[in-house]
Amino acid sequence: MSNIWSEALEELEPRLGAQTFDLWLRPIALDKVEDDRLHLTAPNRFMKEWFENHYLGVVLDEIRARTERSFQVEIAVVVDTEERRAKSDRPSTPSSEVVLDTPPSDLVEATPSTPAPPNPAPRRAEPPKLSQRYRFKSFIHGSSNDLAASAAWAVAQAPGQRLNPLFIYGGVGLGKTHLLHAIGHHLHETRPELRIALQSAERFMNEFITAVRSNSFDEFRRRYREDCDVLLIDDIQFISGRDRTMDEFFHVFNALYEAGKQIVVTADRVPGDMQGMEERLTSRLNWGLVADVKAPDLETRVAILRQKAEEDGIVLSDEVSLHIAGLIRSNVRELEGALVRVSTFASLKGLEITPNFATSVLGAQATQRQHAPLTIETIQKLVATHFSIRIADLKGPRRHKGIARPRMIAMYLARELTPASFPEIGLRFGGKDHSTVINACKRIRALQALEPELAANVRTLRQQLCAEPLS
Ligand code: ADP
Ligand code: MG
Repeated sequence: MSNIWSEALEELEPRLGAQTFDLWLRPIALDKVEDDRLHLTAPNRFMKEWFENHYLGVVLDEIRARTERSFQVEIAVVVDTEERRAKSDRPSTPSSEVVLDTPPSDLVEATPSTPAPPNPAPRRAEPPKLSQRYRFKSFIHGSSNDLAASAAWAVAQAPGQRLNPLFIYGGVGLGKTHLLHAIGHHLHETRPELRIALQSAERFMNEFITAVRSNSFDEFRRRYREDCDVLLIDDIQFISGRDRTMDEFFHVFNALYEAGKQIVVTADRVPGDMQGMEERLTSRLNWGLVADVKAPDLETRVAILRQKAEEDGIVLSDEVSLHIAGLIRSNVRELEGALVRVSTFASLKGLEITPNFATSVLGAQATQRQHAPLTIETIQKLVATHFSIRIADLKGPRRHKGIARPRMIAMYLARELTPASFPEIGLRFGGKDHSTVINACKRIRALQALEPELAANVRTLRQQLCAEPLS
């Protein structure tokens, strides 16, 4: 009879895909068969429920097709000792043996010397800094993000268990940051005692540098290594080539991982493709699950548009949703931008949103964006022309106001309108340090409020960059 089980699974593996299969079906085992009852085991409660809700049906269908019999199923949560043994060969073991409804013991407040009070109220951790919009309920599932989204959900149910670390990668505007925040929200709501740190790798690096410079490294270390139960790091590619930051992150990773704390990292590419990333770090980032987000298919784009329209109280017919989703294919951020543009124009002009109207607003932008993404060179060219200076001056060291201002504006626009990081922008402006770029962006942001003329220049440039065909 156990053949029937393994044969059914074998049949399902190619249908479900190797990753899904390994993740959700392989851990479920057939213990015994009694009459018409299958006794299965799952390594924890979460896996059990996930299997029941998502895959049990297809497995039973498959078995029914093979045996022409219907079975009842009982699933017991049994800690898999073999798996535990295998895992202990690894440098460190996350708390895989913890059954899920009990919190990991290191999260319960107790001091070794004094016995804990009978029912200690769970302490509430500081709420993490999260964007309100980025929640699971507002994230649309589709084949382009299915693995990443289910893995994120799994982590939010059972941090520090099977999927540790979780590494989510993909191009810009495809939902990585959204998923990271969603994990943070869900964990904070369901397990308020967990101390959650969500940080972009860039902020992590800046905090680290500041800590070293201001002799507050102990506090930094405590924040990330000791007072942290869940670490969510966005855009890790940013620290590639930054030796000291990589080294520090490596130690943070080890400390948390060894304590069974959940780590989730996002990046714009797979660990092995990040140039300048230390080998020992990329290998660790590969230890858990590596899941990608791809550009959404048409159906998902339509679903996202509908949802965003509803969130923002925009009336959008099915026909128009489909039309816009057909025009904007590259990523979700552009899709959102398109919706805002179309609805703003429509309300300004007092017109109804029709497919033709959407095309007239988006047509040029849509085609142009797909063929030629905005580059830093294009920005430099336009800024130099606008202020009648040379591109070489934008890249050079001169601090004269007539040059320094346009340079700062160009850096600011590069940061706002392209996915380039601060160091990358510095590099394209004649190899300037990332801190120069950060300061430029800060100043231009502040100056726009103080100097109307500068604000008008920035507005014009931005409009030209976003509206005109790019060469
Ligand atoms: P990334 O971090 O991959 O560059 P973000 O997470 O910042 O992308 O996503 C860009 C925008 O698109 C955000 O406003 C996010 O809410 C939205 N978005 C991306 N994917 C989805 C999705 N599947 N469902 C709903 N909104 C999404
Ligand atoms: Mg992001």
